[in-house]
Amino acid sequence: MEHDLIIVGGGPVGLALAAALAPLGRSIAVVERQPRAALADPAEDGRYIALTHRSIGFLQQVGAWDRIDPADRSPLREAQVLNGQSPFALSFDPGSGGAQWLGQLVSNHLIRRALFDTVAAYGNVTLLADVAVQDVATDRRAARVTLADGRVLTGQLLAGADSRFSKVREALGIGAEVKRLGRSMLLARVAHEGDHGGIATEWFQHGHTIAMLPLNGRRSSAVLTLEDSDVVRVAAMSPAELGAEITRRYGHRLGAMQVEAGPHVYPLAVTYAAHFAARRAALLGDAAVGMNPVTAHGFNLGLQGVASLAGLIGGAGAGADWGGTLLLRRFEGAHRLATRPIYAATNLLVGLYGDDSLPARVMRHATLRAGAHLPLARRAVARMLMQP
Ligand SMILES: Cc1cc2nc3c(=O)[nH]c(=O)nc-3n(C[C@H](O)[C@H](O)[C@H](O)COP(=O)(O)OP(=O)(O)OC[C@H]3O[C@@H](n4cnc5c(N)ncnc54)[C@H](O)[C@@H]3O)c2cc1C
Repeated sequence: MEHDLIIVGGGPVGLALAAALAPLGRSIAVVERQPRAALADPAEDGRYIALTHRSIGFLQQVGAWDRIDPADRSPLREAQVLNGQSPFALSFDPGSGGAQWLGQLVSNHLIRRALFDTVAAYGNVTLLADVAVQDVATDRRAARVTLADGRVLTGQLLAGADSRFSKVREALGIGAEVKRLGRSMLLARVAHEGDHGGIATEWFQHGHTIAMLPLNGRRSSAVLTLEDSDVVRVAAMSPAELGAEITRRYGHRLGAMQVEAGPHVYPLAVTYAAHFAARRAALLGDAAVGMNPVTAHGFNLGLQGVASLAGLIGGAGAGADWGGTLLLRRFEGAHRLATRPIYAATNLLVGLYGDDSLPARVMRHATLRAGAHLPLARRAVARMLMQP
């Protein structure tokens, strides 16, 4: 056997798995279709990831967190949900437990770079970049990965971390729920006059949603969720027009806005794999669960899956078979339990808040008002934001 583990996909989740298992000293291969330079120094992709306390703990443990400049970590002190023109806002904060923030916002490209640098320091991790995986197959004894250039790798365990339209998932014959939502997210980093105070807002309006994620200084990541038909028009605007459009859509709450970076557009699709484990194979990250970004859980859940699998492998002891059936069954059960409720709740929320019919708008208003009178429910949501 050439490798103990073959990871398909050198995205943040694939690299996180390599970083978590590399200290065990066994042979790991990461196959990534992008060139090595695009992993070593990734371009900004517009995404700011709201990392929970648990995710930050994981990144600290593998040695990636300290590779992110503190100036590039923006504390998220509070989150507010607004509905239409109602002045009422439902707020979530860290509570009185001593935590100063709900999470920290970090640009996705900096997380990827920190994880790449962490992994690159290990001699037992081989990165095969600039080559796509063409096919995978597993049997009782080994996993086999065929690359587009004809090379074949063999390993004890195959981990598919190759995104929500996963080739590995398909080749293993694992079905998935796939829903294309007909909407897209448009992201732009903006500078503004007003002070956001570290408060993120999610504002559901008629026909569109705007979220504002607070970055250090008077800057935010603006996230517009638009119908696919509308997003092309907005994305084609000049930076000055786009700044004015975001200012208007945000109701001038933070004053005039100038676009600093972007826009980047992401068509929305959610996916949930029918299984997270198969013979000598596991699915991780978006290949397992492709969340709607609205509740900022996708990468956090991806890291939770990595921590769960790495914990089981570490606990199996030196010399253990990393592709063992029992180990993979345990991973499947734990990750399903961790993800299914959040996936279902997020889709329910998106259904309610993406619907502009009058009953849905009334229901939204009633839900937010009820939430304000249920401090325990608010606490539970805040805890969920801090710890998934
Ligand atoms: C707009 C937006 C905002 C988000 N905000 C948040 C947030 O606030 N909090 C949060 O937790 N999550 C957030 N997410 C989700 C988060 O970005 C994803 O969950 C995360 O990127 C998934 O990582 P991954 O490694 O599984 O997949 P990816 O990042 O998609 O990486 C997959 C990798 O696999 C490679 N690959 C694919 N196919 C092959 C192949 N055949 N051969 C070789 N390589 C292959 C790709 O090149 C890629 O590098 C957001 C997502 C979006 C779109």
